[in-house]
Amino acid sequence: MKEGECSEAIFGERGFTHQCLKKPTKYENNKWWCTIHSPSYLKRQMEARNEKFRADRAKDQERYRRQDAIDKLVEGISTEFIEQNPGILRGQK
Ligand SMILES: [Zn+2]
Repeated sequence: MKEGECSEAIFGERGFTHQCLKKPTKYENNKWWCTIHSPSYLKRQMEARNEKFRADRAKDQERYRRQDAIDKLVEGISTEFIEQNPGILRGQK
């Protein structure tokens, strides 16, 4: 790494690597980084992705849980009967 360069190595085509050419703006871990390659920025990005993953998974799990509950509720009732009595789950006729 030369002075005045971001410390990130970019993996290019055919196995060549070169230094990131963006202007370094952050000094972290004893090295200079451009905005998008600084360890603190990458860490924030990763945390945001993990958070979205957790939220999506929680939503999926709730959907499965709800479907299981509905399945148990109507267990033993034929599909035809449910179709002919659309108010059945609300306690209507
Ligand atoms: Zn960079």
